[in-house]
Amino acid sequence: MKVAIIGAGLAGLTCAYELGTAEGGGIEVDVYEATDRIGGKLFTVPFEAGPTDMGAEAFMARRKDAVELFHQLGLADALVEPSGLGSLVYVDGRTEPLPRAGIMGIPSTSEPVAHLVSAETAARIDAEGSTDGFAWEIGGDQNVGKLVRERYGDEVVDNVVTSLLGGVYSCAADDLGVRATIPQLAAEFDRLAAASDNGTVHLSEAVRNLEDARKELPTGQGAVFNAFRDGYQELYETLAEESGADIYIDAFISAITREGEGFRLKGGEDTVYDHVVLATPAPTAALLLKQVAPEVAATLKTVQLANSVVVGMRFATDEGLPENSGVLVAAGADDVGAKAFTLSSRKWPHLAERGGALVRASFGRFGDDVPLRADEDDLVDWALDDLQTITGFDGRAAGLEEIYVQRWFGGLPRFDEQHLATVATAREQLASVVGISATGAWAGGVGVPAVIADARAAAQEILKQR
Ligand SMILES: Cc1cc2nc3c(=O)[nH]c(=O)nc-3n(C[C@H](O)[C@H](O)[C@H](O)COP(=O)(O)OP(=O)(O)OC[C@H]3O[C@@H](n4cnc5c(N)ncnc54)[C@H](O)[C@@H]3O)c2cc1C
Repeated sequence: MKVAIIGAGLAGLTCAYELGTAEGGGIEVDVYEATDRIGGKLFTVPFEAGPTDMGAEAFMARRKDAVELFHQLGLADALVEPSGLGSLVYVDGRTEPLPRAGIMGIPSTSEPVAHLVSAETAARIDAEGSTDGFAWEIGGDQNVGKLVRERYGDEVVDNVVTSLLGGVYSCAADDLGVRATIPQLAAEFDRLAAASDNGTVHLSEAVRNLEDARKELPTGQGAVFNAFRDGYQELYETLAEESGADIYIDAFISAITREGEGFRLKGGEDTVYDHVVLATPAPTAALLLKQVAPEVAATLKTVQLANSVVVGMRFATDEGLPENSGVLVAAGADDVGAKAFTLSSRKWPHLAERGGALVRASFGRFGDDVPLRADEDDLVDWALDDLQTITGFDGRAAGLEEIYVQRWFGGLPRFDEQHLATVATAREQLASVVGISATGAWAGGVGVPAVIADARAAAQEILKQR
């Protein structure tokens, strides 16, 4: 069986590995990558001080399936834990501790966010449980920003929820869905709606139930997040090598056409493939599917992408850098343009060991493309200025030794309140197109473990057809 995979990001490489190492063999895999390197949104840059990630930098280690794969790949010793230092949020010209309680910044009482909102908002949060509930459709989805604004007020969304969700999705809370981004909260709404006489639910009650459930979890499970000591290149290079696939870089695929029972790729080798896997962002998958699966193409075309920019900076000294893992910027802050800073050498002990300081500035949320089009020099200046405004750390005086600017065009799919329905429709439509599969961050979730799980599942489906 000859399989072509389009896209050598995490999804494409995981799928190639799963197919190439499957028991019984018999699968020849070619991977096509449009750019001059593999990894996609995983990208480790060789700073003089050591390899440094400019895309994803961590992963949720509680997802045991991903960790199992890393062990299987012989990368158990490459995994490292964070320092556990807390993060800050920059609101109204001051930094404050980021609340640890609540679900993605949504509290059950005013207590964890009292330092970030007005007394009026605090009172509103505490009174939410005694007001009328809101209608929740079991299995449905709603907009996170709209929902929290209606129940708790704007300050909770702008000062806390958008900072946290924006850090993961490069989107404001108003561009995201509850089930799409906080599925455990949607599941709790489902449960409460099913148990209620009139189908209405309360936000504070749902969050409190989830907090109570969290307290019951066994302790001592290790850090929530892990990273790779030498960056994600350890993962994407190992996947590529172990897959045994032929990987073509600088190979932009511009169309898929049918030939007999199989498929040809425009821009690929002179080969007819039995199966094609699309492991690209959704809009690209839509373009590529135009001829062979126009219905799926029309569905996937609706998925929108959020752009972002990461500025990596290494300083000679870390003196004066706050003892925190990072700072998130509240929505609406008009004195700074950055949306977040990861104080990487504080967050990760293995990076602190290199000496000096390593900081990553992030710019851009969905709909804000100014950073994407800005000059590199301007971006570095903004990063240094904003870092000083927010933390007082003077990066210029600290000796800026290395810089890397990475623009992420279409960095992340927007997981809005329609997204899961769109994915379900695309999957249903694709099920009737024999010989074509699709996977990637848009399909099963943007986090590294979710991308891996979806790609492995796609490969398992192909293996059934051997
Ligand atoms: C700045 C940033 C930080 C992140 N941080 C984290 C984090 O800390 N933890 C975490 O879990 N997740 C994080 N993520 C999310 C995670 O990195 C991504 O969801 C994941 O890497 C996406 O993998 P993918 O294979 O689906 O897509 P991609 O990485 O986008 O791979 C798709 C590949 O397809 C190629 N391609 C596209 N079109 C074509 C074509 N026509 N022909 C050939 N090739 C094509 C692309 O060049 C690309 O290499 C982050 C994402 C970004 C952008």
